[in-house]
Amino acid sequence: MRYPKLRELREAITALIKGPYTARFPYKPHKPFERFRGKPYFYEEDCVGCSACVQVCPSGALEFMDVNKNGRAMRILTYRTELCIFCGQCQANCLTEKGIMLSNEFDLATTEKRQDLKQEIQKELIACECCGEPIIPYDQYLWVVKKLGPLVFANPSLMLFYLRSLSLAPDIVPAQKKEMEFLRADRIKILCPRCRREAVLKS
Ligand code: SF4
Ligand code: SF4
Repeated sequence: MRYPKLRELREAITALIKGPYTARFPYKPHKPFERFRGKPYFYEEDCVGCSACVQVCPSGALEFMDVNKNGRAMRILTYRTELCIFCGQCQANCLTEKGIMLSNEFDLATTEKRQDLKQEIQKELIACECCGEPIIPYDQYLWVVKKLGPLVFANPSLMLFYLRSLSLAPDIVPAQKKEMEFLRADRIKILCPRCRREAVLKS
């Protein structure tokens, strides 16, 4: 003998009284649930330009380029909506945890052109004071200095950067020479790893 399916019957009656469970979007606005993964946004004040999010983005929706703009080395970070798969890896791996965050935006249909859909932010890069090559974004260096605290005095580049951020040391214009002789004084400069090694070995 088959018993009546009471659970299904109860569901059917509830649905008849309360109406369907599905959202009425687009006829009515829809509020996504709390952990919904929608369109990511860069937050320029919290991003330090480290590019960790670019390295982990599986779809190539994030990219960065180091360029020279009016004599200043800049890192340009770009997010492209049309390539994003909303996986959330960028937010999960962000160095500052707040530089890029997913919103709950899901209704992304638009008639805009592709190039108008991207979001771009720029970060100034610090150049090596011997060879002029860009080393790291200024904001990322500052973030490292704050994290390390008194330990910055173990590294000449970090120590100098910290003192300059407090206006306690003068700025130096990068030499930008391809081949150069390293002097002992070059050790107390902000240097890329290659110049740091050369300065230590040759001076
Ligand atoms: S959500 Fe995923 S695909 Fe989209 S930008 Fe972030 S890492 Fe890339
Ligand atoms: S701070 Fe976060 S958002 Fe900015 S570049 Fe690094 S990982 Fe990406």
